[in-house]
Amino acid sequence: MQRRYLIAGNWKMNGSLAANAELLTGLLARQNDRSNDFPDIESLVCPPAVYLESVRQRIGDGPILLGAQNLSDQHKAGAYTGEILGAMLAELGCSYVIVGHSERRAYYGEDDATVARKFAAAQAAGLRPILCVGETLEQREGGMTETVLERQLGAVIAACGIGAFARAVVAYEPVWAIGTGRTASPEQAQAAHAYLRGQLAVQDAKIANSTRILYGGSVKADNAAALLCCADVDGGLIGGASLKAAEFLAICAAAQALNKT
Ligand code: PEP
Repeated sequence: MQRRYLIAGNWKMNGSLAANAELLTGLLARQNDRSNDFPDIESLVCPPAVYLESVRQRIGDGPILLGAQNLSDQHKAGAYTGEILGAMLAELGCSYVIVGHSERRAYYGEDDATVARKFAAAQAAGLRPILCVGETLEQREGGMTETVLERQLGAVIAACGIGAFARAVVAYEPVWAIGTGRTASPEQAQAAHAYLRGQLAVQDAKIANSTRILYGGSVKADNAAALLCCADVDGGLIGGASLKAAEFLAICAAAQALNKT
């Protein structure tokens, strides 16, 4: 089974109308010049929700896809002040949404049950969730990495069923590597990805084989190829480096050069 690389940019709570316009000009310039330079991969940007519409207008129907960083766990509109329904994101042209990012787990109290509800709400709205899982440094040093990954992934499998992963992406994001400049080694990433795929395979080998597992944590242009060439690494979830057009495009180019399809 060939899994198409997905390079996803998580802009987090960054940007402004002016900064986004500049970033998108950089991202689109290369594609405008030479149609689509990365025909065999998927590329995705996830701006803050307030900018989704303006980003959508700029990227149009081009090859860069649009995603959101978060959504409500509710399935229907109603009295949930400050929340954003999955259907609203879909209406704005989002095809993916990040769920369970470690920043949401750590700062906004999202536990495994909440993440599983958001995963289900995303799919109910026709969005593909990108489920983030990963251990803290303390957990890694305590030999708990696999236990944490099993718990975080298992909670969603238990709530939504393994079949749901046919329309989802998993992202392994060791918390100690996010925004720290400290990247997991290719060996560490591959071991975690293989473990996650093994957990999916216990339930359904075919789905395990087709589910894309992204690596996230200080991916940059100069370390992308080494991580992306690992057998079970099917793309990247890129934070800081997604805010620089040249860096993000270089990561896309690394994936295109390795092209698994
Ligand atoms: C992230 O936010 O998901 C992330 C991986 O950030 P960074 O690339 O900055 O470590």
